[in-house]
Amino acid sequence: MRLILVGPPGAGKGTQATAISTGYAIPHISTGDMLRAAVKGQTPLGLAADAAMKRGDLVPDDVVIGMVVERIAAADAERGFLLDGFPRTRPQAEALSTALRDAGVKLDAVVLMEVPDELIVERIVGRRSDPVTGEIYHLSFRPAQDPEVAARLVQRADDTREACEARLAKYHAETAPIVPYYEELGILRRVDGVGAPKEVELRVAAALRGV
Ligand code: AMP
Repeated sequence: MRLILVGPPGAGKGTQATAISTGYAIPHISTGDMLRAAVKGQTPLGLAADAAMKRGDLVPDDVVIGMVVERIAAADAERGFLLDGFPRTRPQAEALSTALRDAGVKLDAVVLMEVPDELIVERIVGRRSDPVTGEIYHLSFRPAQDPEVAARLVQRADDTREACEARLAKYHAETAPIVPYYEELGILRRVDGVGAPKEVELRVAAALRGV
């Protein structure tokens, strides 16, 4: 199964990706996670991406495309993968189509998670993650129950109000145009991303039924 999750920042892609990748036993490939790891490890790629990420800007296409093409060629992605946060521009979508065509495989579905802008900023500014498990929490909507976990939660550097607004603007300007691209290919599945994660999980499962 070769899947893509698309949606604005804070739509719940990361949360749903965990469930989908477990359900289909395919690797969850998050370009945001890969880039954050590169920044942390101060690799040349991380150093090139750091400033753009902090501003809420996109990392240049060639950098991200190279990283993904290499990642999906790895042995664990041979039977499928779930891409989260890629493609984010039309050139990225086209480069992915070319790479998959060259490999003789095709995408099965693109899941678009729809959440209105008004809800996004609230979701993002309260978002926290556990550096130990990678689990995602929210100060109001999903607080950590264990005080030890609550004490170690961290906020992403780009989850400030300013960076969030910049990322949302980028989403509408650069990423939304990939929606008609996949719609024309007949593989787009729309999912309402408003609601509790479990509810949304059921909608995603329903959207993928028969794929
Ligand atoms: P995410 O965790 O998906 O929200 O990504 C965090 C940040 O990483 C984004 O705001 C971008 O700066 C960068 N990034 C992640 N994926 C991409 C991509 N496909 N193209 C360009 N930049 C990306």
